[in-house]
Amino acid sequence: KITASIITIGDELLIGQVIDTNSAWMAQELNKIGVWVQHRIAVGDVWEDIWQALDEEALRSDIIFITGGLGPTADDITKPLLCTYFGGTMVMDLPTLEHVTYLFEHVFKRPMPLLDRNKKQAEVPDVCTVLKNERGTAPGMQFEKNGKLFFSLPGVPHEMKGLMSDHIFSLLKERFKLPYIGHSTLLTVGVGESYLADMIQSFEEVLPENVKLAYLPNYGMVRLRLTAHGAERQTVDALLEQQFTALKMLVQEFVAADEDIAMNEIVGRLLKAKGKSVTTAESCTGGYIAHLITALPGASAYFKGSVVSYDNTVKQNVLKVNSNTLEINGAVSEQTVIEMLQGALNLMQTDYGIAVSGIMGPDGGTEEKPVGTVWVAVGNKWHVETKKLHFRFSRERNIELTAINALNLLRL
Ligand code: ATP
Ligand code: MG
Repeated sequence: KITASIITIGDELLIGQVIDTNSAWMAQELNKIGVWVQHRIAVGDVWEDIWQALDEEALRSDIIFITGGLGPTADDITKPLLCTYFGGTMVMDLPTLEHVTYLFEHVFKRPMPLLDRNKKQAEVPDVCTVLKNERGTAPGMQFEKNGKLFFSLPGVPHEMKGLMSDHIFSLLKERFKLPYIGHSTLLTVGVGESYLADMIQSFEEVLPENVKLAYLPNYGMVRLRLTAHGAERQTVDALLEQQFTALKMLVQEFVAADEDIAMNEIVGRLLKAKGKSVTTAESCTGGYIAHLITALPGASAYFKGSVVSYDNTVKQNVLKVNSNTLEINGAVSEQTVIEMLQGALNLMQTDYGIAVSGIMGPDGGTEEKPVGTVWVAVGNKWHVETKKLHFRFSRERNIELTAINALNLLRL
């Protein structure tokens, strides 16, 4: 098993000012190619602490990743430290200098402000292999010591990711003859984890030894992820496909997609495929469903607009919800969402619509309609389906769940 450690560097990480997303991403991606991240540590911009972390992680793992501390400012001591640690001297790396100069002239389009400071970005220890950073000024660096491999990467997340993808993953695969690992994800909606587990128990029991199944629940969906590994890609992919088909058969009625995409994308694809359009009439979600729909490129093909009818006057005046309905049934009621839906369909002239009204909390609930109560209506002029939902989470999460469930209802 090839093991790795991740050292993240920066005072800002320790005080929580910046959240360490780098190690989460790295661990996830390394895991996919069969590198086992067994230890992660965050240290400040402190010489002794970084040094000690390097010593300890080098004893522990085959590969040590370091992110952060590569900026040109004074608090960043990582590069000189690495130079001393690996016994080198600082030299100017001409390709990097050229790249930094190019970035200022053609990308940032401003003169290098403090020439020396930015030139410093192009200085590297002469004992490292430089990994070109296409997205920024600080290059990545690769070192070796006592058979251990070290990578120092900038802290800026998209630069770090770029360096991993451009250079490091392929380098690791080749060097460690890593096995091929394949993944397939089945997206299920409207069914709980434990019920799913019952349905596929027999499948799980006879899974081949090199295939693993993971349940990943999130926002009303459960992802079933199959992972298989082996020496040859073809064999692994074939095995994976066979198992995936078997799994899909078992949970067919709950399958929303056979890849890992979000609910808005599932709905977007369906609408596009059918050449249909949709609108929303939103009370409690305040336009969040419309936001999810328009967050995808190409949404204009199936989305025209929405009505955010947060207040009853808007439900009445814009969506033409009956005042009696609002008075007698209340704003959070089946009849109200039906009328909201019809109002939006009339206004926008779309094929389908979604209407939601609910109480998202933390205040405003009653005994009859507690916080988290939501009515959803979806459909067209001739056929409407309604559903009463109930969530008991934070306001934020209630809104998210309402939106995803409403979109899911449209899918059916
Ligand atoms: P600074 O001088 O602010 O520390 P820097 O030029 O020294 O920045 P880095 O230390 O490499 O460069 O970090 C650049 C930026 O990347 C940080 O300001 C921070 O916002 C972000 N960053 C650093 N480490 C991480 C991490 N582990 N996860 C997410 N973002 C990070
Ligand atoms: Mg820093």
